[in-house]
Amino acid sequence: MGQRVKEKELKGVIPGLLRIFSKFSPYIHQQKVLIICSFLALLFETSLRLLEPWPLKYVFDHILIPAHNNSANIPNTHGFHPVLLLTLSAVAIVVISGLGSIAAYLSTYGMSLAVVRILSEVRRNVFNHLQHLSLSFHQKSKSGDLITRVTADIEKMRTVAVKTALPLLTNIFSMLGMLAIMLWLNWELALLVMAIFPLLMLLTSNMISRIRKFAKKHRDSEGVLAATTGETIGAIKIVQVLSLQEMLHNVFSAQNQKSLDEAIESIRLSAALERTVQILMAIIVAVVLWRGSHAVLHKELTPGELLVFMTYLKNAFEPMRRLSNQVGQIAKATASGERVVEVLDYEPNVKDLPGVKPAHPFFGAVRFENVAFGYDSSEEIIKDISFIVQPGQQVALVGPSGSGKSTLLSLILRLYDPESGRILIDGQDIREYTVQSLRQQISVVLQDSVLFAVSVKENIAYGKLGATDKEVEKAARLANAHEFIMKLPQGYDTILGDRGGTISGGQRQRIAIARAAIRQAPIVILDEPTTGLDKKSEYIVNSALAKLTQGRTTFVISHNLKAVENADMILYVEGGRILEQGTHRELICLGGHYATLYRMQSVVDIEAGDIYAVEA
Ligand code: ADP
Repeated sequence: MGQRVKEKELKGVIPGLLRIFSKFSPYIHQQKVLIICSFLALLFETSLRLLEPWPLKYVFDHILIPAHNNSANIPNTHGFHPVLLLTLSAVAIVVISGLGSIAAYLSTYGMSLAVVRILSEVRRNVFNHLQHLSLSFHQKSKSGDLITRVTADIEKMRTVAVKTALPLLTNIFSMLGMLAIMLWLNWELALLVMAIFPLLMLLTSNMISRIRKFAKKHRDSEGVLAATTGETIGAIKIVQVLSLQEMLHNVFSAQNQKSLDEAIESIRLSAALERTVQILMAIIVAVVLWRGSHAVLHKELTPGELLVFMTYLKNAFEPMRRLSNQVGQIAKATASGERVVEVLDYEPNVKDLPGVKPAHPFFGAVRFENVAFGYDSSEEIIKDISFIVQPGQQVALVGPSGSGKSTLLSLILRLYDPESGRILIDGQDIREYTVQSLRQQISVVLQDSVLFAVSVKENIAYGKLGATDKEVEKAARLANAHEFIMKLPQGYDTILGDRGGTISGGQRQRIAIARAAIRQAPIVILDEPTTGLDKKSEYIVNSALAKLTQGRTTFVISHNLKAVENADMILYVEGGRILEQGTHRELICLGGHYATLYRMQSVVDIEAGDIYAVEA
């Protein structure tokens, strides 16, 4: 069964590895000098490893045994003094080992450096690629999964490449070398060794796969334990209120015991494997010794050569034993690598078409021509929409939730491209401008503005990279934000908490408005920027927005019809279509959907006003 597992792993590993190598080949190419030098050092190290038992063989065959056999104690040393030869052999042992260590150091350091450089370049590219992938990709993906691909998956590849694949490569080379030398010394004995090793692997692979199974079960159980602990502590209030401690304690105890049992079983199997291997190894050594001694007695092999055989046997054994585990590790790292390649293979839907040029500074004329769009091909969210906006006009989009207003505005930003029809700015299809130059000329304020966990100053300057402190302050003043920023502990240098958590909703919106204002963009998009704010904050934010949008083509989505009744054009959107279009006065006269909604809101406002009055 173990064998089958390995075959299955291997089958997936090789095409996967090829895919990863071909995707990473530009980065590998950049490090080719380092890789070649390290590889040469690795070959040198392998050759020295093969040489290790040879001084001993020489001493045995040419000094000790002849000396032992010869009563006059004059060994066959080709005329050299035996003590000199012994000394040279002793020095050779140290030199071989010393040079081998230096070569090993150089190859490990060189290869690791190459791997780290390649993978950090890959990581940089994956991060950048992720930023450019379309919203449709990000909305379908789980952010935790993407984070794991950038961090843990690349780290797994690095660890396995340095700690597993590299030693494996060294071992494979030295085993091939050993085999060649053994065949040269005595092919019969070499074939015997070659036949024994697969037998050994067959006998142990079953145990190894059982150990792996238990180790995996143990890891899963540890995960369950961590999840139970996390959930319990996360919901400690409700746990205490409902007195669930006893029940959760029992659940935890059972999981704890299960994890313990699995850990012990995996330790027991490992110990059993060690001992089994020890016995099997003794049997192999005995067989080779027995057969080898026969060869020595028949003068087919010298005693020193038998010594080389036995040393190679011992040296080859440990790497062989680890092979199965290493294949498993490489299979896991390959899976990680494929996850990374998957991200890199994903093409952004919205991208610059060939030959497009950066946009000129916009005047702000926007035109929709029979635009249709759907997130899924099965359902159209925007249906055949056409309208024209003159530069500097204020356009309000109103209508029920889910009617497609935000989607419509996201098309202007090219967060998605329409399925049919086109959107023109200053008379030219927006797909004929580079995406970056288009977006740079549009300012956006959303309902729940996201601020980054950096200083207030940087948050505002993100609207225009490279903005000066003066520009930041000017934008903040325009957004009615300067006064409250100055009252923050470190003023503009105050670092905001995660998602701007350390300031109020209204203040967050005003920083977002400053970030939008600093761009001085000719087109402004406001997607319900005052929803969820109290009356006072709404008033301050609205006055900031009025300054932001002055003289610029503005699209505003609002549920509060009173706030947009002065717009140059109101689009009433429902079910992905524009049902009514005109000024407030025109739409009221029309007496349709807008007029009904406006009347309903006025009634609610009056009632709310009454309530406030009563409360006051
Ligand atoms: P509105 O702004 O008028 O409230 P939206 O444009 O947000 O409407 O949504 C229009 C429709 O599109 C809704 O049915 C909504 O569920 C759907 N929708 C919005 N965003 C996505 C998305 N990223 N993927 C799939 N469907 C979406």
